[in-house]
Amino acid sequence: MSGSDTIFALSSGPPPAGIAVIRLSGPRVRFGLETLVESVPEPRTATLRKFNAADGTPIDRGIVLFFAAPASFTGEDVAELHVHGGRAVVAAVLAALGALPGFRPAEPGEFTRRAFGNERLDLTQVEGLADLIAAETEAQRRQALAQADGALGALYEGWREKLVRARALIEAELDFADEEDIPGSVSVQAWDIVAGLEQEIVNHLADRRGERVRDGFEVVILGPPNVGKSSLLNAIARRDVAIVTPEAGTTRDLIEVRLDLDGYAVTLVDTAGLRDATSGVEREGIRRAEERAGSADLVLWVEDARDAARAELPLSDAIRVRNKMDLAEGRGADGAIGVSARTGEGLAALLALVAERIAALSAPGESPVLTRARHRTALEGCLKSLRAADIAGRPLELRAEDLRHAGDLLGRITGRIDVEDMLDVIFRDFCIGK
Ligand code: GDP
Repeated sequence: MSGSDTIFALSSGPPPAGIAVIRLSGPRVRFGLETLVESVPEPRTATLRKFNAADGTPIDRGIVLFFAAPASFTGEDVAELHVHGGRAVVAAVLAALGALPGFRPAEPGEFTRRAFGNERLDLTQVEGLADLIAAETEAQRRQALAQADGALGALYEGWREKLVRARALIEAELDFADEEDIPGSVSVQAWDIVAGLEQEIVNHLADRRGERVRDGFEVVILGPPNVGKSSLLNAIARRDVAIVTPEAGTTRDLIEVRLDLDGYAVTLVDTAGLRDATSGVEREGIRRAEERAGSADLVLWVEDARDAARAELPLSDAIRVRNKMDLAEGRGADGAIGVSARTGEGLAALLALVAERIAALSAPGESPVLTRARHRTALEGCLKSLRAADIAGRPLELRAEDLRHAGDLLGRITGRIDVEDMLDVIFRDFCIGK
């Protein structure tokens, strides 16, 4: 991938479509525009032009937008060609561009990678953009947009700057140590900064909302055999309003479904399905069901509405669901949520309650939230180094070195430091044209 190539790609969805947007970036964008649309239009001004192939054959008529470097998405000269979104039109424009010297099709994520390389975006913004494109629910969209706008990067960068300041104070003390007149303790201030930062990182790591919003909340259905857990999951899955993607085929019982509940991605898991899936090894299945319930954000405890007995809830905040209300002749749900997987009775109320609980779990707070494992791992490493640095009595040089390491780990999150090895992984998930 050479930055000296001019790259191009269809950035809008696949044709046919009303309009297709083809994006260009690189040093020869001006030349490309001169060839295809006769001249370079005013920057940032939508201009109607005829598009011609290099030999002058007309291809289409459409809008051209030009962004001069460095004030563009990639930091290079960029153009967008808005043409009619027909297959043949798009193919002809791409062929005309491909025929130009110095032009080649972009690789997945290459526009964004150039934006990162030219410091138009930090890595958390790059990841925010990827999340924005992948967002399926409202909460995911809101969170991804905030991250793409730089809120999370600014938080981590602010922490890194604090560490730089703390280290400067310690270095100053190390320098003074050679001299006769050692001033009080300059580094006391530094350790105050470090202790404050440790606490901020601990709080940030403890907050799982961002990862849950991004990856989905897990709601586990638990209960004795034959109360209708699988039936309940399948009845919910058939309510087309809620479904995002069923995880298993529709010909057999589902084990999981992914729902969009009031803007939150929720994975609903049937533990009876888990049991069946383990080829009859009952005990292992139950162990897995309990494990799944243990890590769940919410548990639905399902009972047969005809049972007079009420089992103790496995978790105090589980939702008690009484199923088979259609068979329970006149019996009330007794303060629980009464449903019938067979008739659909009560399912809407149940889903509304689950949505309410999830919304309460993810109430937006003041500061940006942790969103992915890459950041969590780096922050855990950072915290470890801060704690090592914060042990009084160790030689000051070593403690300063720990602080440097902690700062580097923060720098790796935003991509300021030493990230070449991670870039392929991060950009791998991007689509072509982004
Ligand atoms: P699980 O072992 O808890 O997953 O229970 P299943 O979903 O396999 O259901 C056990 C039996 O109860 C099946 O024969 C279902 O058809 C039946 N069943 C499940 N839900 C209802 C319901 O709401 N009403 C009625 N009448 N039968 C139900």
